[in-house]
Amino acid sequence: MSDQKTKSTKTEEKANGIPKPTSPNSDLKLDYSSFWNYSDAPESSDKVVIEDTYNHFINGEFVEPEKGRRFASVNPATEEVLSQFAEGTSEDVDKAVKAARKAYKNVWSKMPGRERGKYIFRIARMIQERSRELAIIESMDGGKPIRESRDVDIPLVAAHFFYYAGWADKLEYAFPGRKPEPLGVCGQIIPWNFPMLMLAWKIAPALATGNTVVLKPAETTPLTALRFAEICRDAGLPDGVVNIVTGAGQTGSEIVNHPDVNKVAFTGSTQVGKIIQKSLAGTDKKFTLELGGKGANIIFEDASIDQAVEGVVNAIFFNQGHVCCAGSRLIVQEGISDRFIQKLKDRMETLIVGDPLDKNTDIGAINSKEQYERIKTYLDLGGKEGAVMHQSSCDLPQNGYFCRPTIFTNVSQSNRIVQEEIFGPVLTIQTFRTPDEAVQKANNSPYGLSGGIWTDKGSKIFNTGQQVRAGVMWTNTFNKFDPTSPFGGYKESGVGREGGLHGLYPYVNLV
Ligand code: NAP
Ligand code: MG
Repeated sequence: MSDQKTKSTKTEEKANGIPKPTSPNSDLKLDYSSFWNYSDAPESSDKVVIEDTYNHFINGEFVEPEKGRRFASVNPATEEVLSQFAEGTSEDVDKAVKAARKAYKNVWSKMPGRERGKYIFRIARMIQERSRELAIIESMDGGKPIRESRDVDIPLVAAHFFYYAGWADKLEYAFPGRKPEPLGVCGQIIPWNFPMLMLAWKIAPALATGNTVVLKPAETTPLTALRFAEICRDAGLPDGVVNIVTGAGQTGSEIVNHPDVNKVAFTGSTQVGKIIQKSLAGTDKKFTLELGGKGANIIFEDASIDQAVEGVVNAIFFNQGHVCCAGSRLIVQEGISDRFIQKLKDRMETLIVGDPLDKNTDIGAINSKEQYERIKTYLDLGGKEGAVMHQSSCDLPQNGYFCRPTIFTNVSQSNRIVQEEIFGPVLTIQTFRTPDEAVQKANNSPYGLSGGIWTDKGSKIFNTGQQVRAGVMWTNTFNKFDPTSPFGGYKESGVGREGGLHGLYPYVNLV
């Protein structure tokens, strides 16, 4: 990694661990110059082998791309090329779909659920065994802090496979009185923000219900999907049950439009989701679309303020803000807004931005140059729209794509930075006086994926929570995930649910 100018930043602490305010009559102003530095704590990537080139995984084998074309994936923290990947063409996709069809007909759909479950359990255990390697690769390819890939992404990936492995032999209990039948071949397309977790959300329920899959990871983060292919092979999964075809948007489109695909599962932007939905209109393919979001985090004045500040930090700065359900709009009650914003600024000052492989890092690299430019465009736009921008004062590494944690105040509901998904560590802040106003502002969005409510009062939680049109509402917490819990959106945030019992429905026909 380049020059590590990213350290600094922890509040001076008293013996009891409470940050020492510099002003005797206020806890608002901290003296940033008194912060002390963390030492480097790098996770070693020495043991992780990354090949120069990777091929598609089709019918249980790694195979060269038919047309021989390749593309690179870089490490966004260093801008170095990690490896070259096969670019999937219509020929490659056709081969993968044929392999998946054959495996579906001859093996997987005929196998009893308890046998399918054994394979999925084995995959889950192998993910746990290789969790350190997978976490390091996820951080290198995508830029997310190792603390998150190690403690959040990969454990959740394993948990998803364990959870759906458990359903494989109990499907008749999931749908009492009905007979669930698999659909056939599922085409699955995933984004770059949680590469392996999105793979797990897609593949685990599909396999548990007796379907076979062709999955395309995102162009900027294909590495862990190919490690997963190795795991499938090592687990002895029958050939063709899982096929991974790498490539860009065009490859995804080939999968969506392949005539022998029975179901399309897509996670990505609303823009591409609309294209996919249009192309599926008039076909009998089933589909689920998990799309963008602009989640509102509502803070009432009776909330536990310090806890809520932590929650807001987690809501918008987790994974550099590359989170579909991020709490990217803060809506805070007027009586506490000044105090809250100051506390948030103080907390932002303590966030460490830098090397994703350093265990101290809070905010890693922006996933790609393209996304970095996109975020920068929004930062400029905020200024043009009259908003006031505040960023933490941390230094950034010289190489790689990094963005300081950023908040915008003085914003209007109609501003584009309030309405559009920025997908970076950028928060807009609005205030409200009454609960109705908070609900109105929260719902004034084309999206409806997530939201948060912070208050001491259960009645406010239920009253407000029921009025916000969002698929997931968190109360006094944020960004909590569990395989047993359904996830999905209203409005332009998508169609269908993944996770939990609900996540089985899109993969079965109920007879
Ligand atoms: P994206 O540009 O829509 O891409 C998503 C996937 O679709 C990628 O694999 C992409 O390939 C592929 N793709 C692009 N054009 C396609 C086309 N015409 N037909 C078929 N596939 C196509 O989204 P992204 O930028 O990767 O991901 C960020 C978005 O995902 C955000 O909007 C975020 O909110 C959303 N997201 C939603 C959820 C959820 O559960 N609701 C979860 C995570 C992320 P390339 O990568 O090669 O372009
Ligand atoms: Mg990459």
